[in-house]
Amino acid sequence: MLLMLLVFSFSGLTLLGWITVAVSGGVVFLILQIVQWQIISRSEMEVAEAIAHVEMMSSGEYSGSDVRSSFGVGHLVDVVSESVSKIQQQHNQILLEKKELNIRLGIADAENKHLTSILNTLNDAVVVTDSFNEIAMANSAASKLFRFNLDESKRLPVDQIINDSSLAKLIKDTREGQHKHTRRLEQRVVKGGSESVYDVTLSSVYTTNQANSNIASQNVNSGVVTILRDVTREREIAETKSDFVSNVSHELRTPLSSIKAYMEMLIDGEAEDEKTRFEFYNIIQGETNRLSRLIDNILNISRIESGVVRVQREHTSLMSIVTEAVNIMLPQARAKQIELVEIPSPDYFQVYADRDMILQCVLNLLSNAIKYTSDGGRVSVSVSVDDSSEMVRVVVNDTGVGIPEEDVPHLFDKFYRVADHKKLAKGTGLGLNLVKHVIETVHNGEVNIESEVNHGSTFTFALPIAED
Ligand code: ADP
Repeated sequence: MLLMLLVFSFSGLTLLGWITVAVSGGVVFLILQIVQWQIISRSEMEVAEAIAHVEMMSSGEYSGSDVRSSFGVGHLVDVVSESVSKIQQQHNQILLEKKELNIRLGIADAENKHLTSILNTLNDAVVVTDSFNEIAMANSAASKLFRFNLDESKRLPVDQIINDSSLAKLIKDTREGQHKHTRRLEQRVVKGGSESVYDVTLSSVYTTNQANSNIASQNVNSGVVTILRDVTREREIAETKSDFVSNVSHELRTPLSSIKAYMEMLIDGEAEDEKTRFEFYNIIQGETNRLSRLIDNILNISRIESGVVRVQREHTSLMSIVTEAVNIMLPQARAKQIELVEIPSPDYFQVYADRDMILQCVLNLLSNAIKYTSDGGRVSVSVSVDDSSEMVRVVVNDTGVGIPEEDVPHLFDKFYRVADHKKLAKGTGLGLNLVKHVIETVHNGEVNIESEVNHGSTFTFALPIAED
């Protein structure tokens, strides 16, 4: 205070003057403080507003800038908002492209599944390998054939999946261009312990390489499609057909040559007496009958097998058929001094069957029994009824050479003949095959064999008793 009074007294102002100056100074200071505070709080508000705008823009809720500012914050917001909107546009573009890519991926995925399910419907095995000789695609037929897990096979080396080394090598060679674009060959593949024949098609897949724009585009081998078709059955049928043709032509030629030779001898007068002529006539008749039976057997087998056989069923007595067959075969039996016996039975068992076909079966069985029984033997035939199964049974029994056990399962196969019997009698191996077809396929009956080597054989067939 003392100091102030000294200052007052030296400055020449009155005390009141000094008080006025001090108050005015205080007021000015206060006003300056208020203005500063207002400026700070307003700039804070503008910055907060600018941040809110930028945040809204970045979240895409707001696209324009209307921040009013006296501190340049508005300009800053404009610059930021421009960048944000550019980023926003790029972001939207990327989102659009992502959406499009997702759609394309979905379509490609659906097409892939469609293609896989088409491949899986094929019976042929399909294996697609890529340029690294790895599995790109395969179907379920291939997985069954080569026994691999379809879901785990992708991108695995081909020789790890295809357990047939020569086939895996073929695929690699094709991929390396060692073979022409498409190659077809026959390959034997071991499947389930047995060997099957496959028709294999190997095709190279070529794609255009445009990776480097300076180099002219070129076709590159990008993989191999291998298709395997099982042709085992077709090959067997083709083989059987060619065997059939050669067997039949051989069997037809044999009796024909014999007939021709005896006819020529008769024409040339080589049979001088009546007895020799009679003998020649008998041989010609026997060979003609053999030829006729052979042709009947062949025709009937092929008709039954192709399903075009005409079956003329009627109520008929098996006993009467047997009697007719015995009468036909008697001369053949007598020629070998074989006793051919028909065991009588009551004639009231009727079957509903094709008479001619059944007659041919009985003739085939009797003819075999006589052929494979030595001179002086015995052949018997009987008819009986089996009440429990309601079947009528025909039994042809002989005292002949018998059949080795290992041959029995094959006797009904076409052209099958017991090796040792070929020198005993002429034959075609078709007779029993026809019996089986006629009795089992056409008439729902059954055929059985019992035989003992050197003691004889018993052939039985049974047909259902006809309903009234
Ligand atoms: P084939 O014309 O050769 O007689 P089959 O089909 O009638 O033809 O008979 C097939 C084979 O079965 C014969 O070749 C023969 O080996 C054997 N066979 C058939 N019947 C008898 C039988 N009664 N006794 C011994 N073997 C028989």
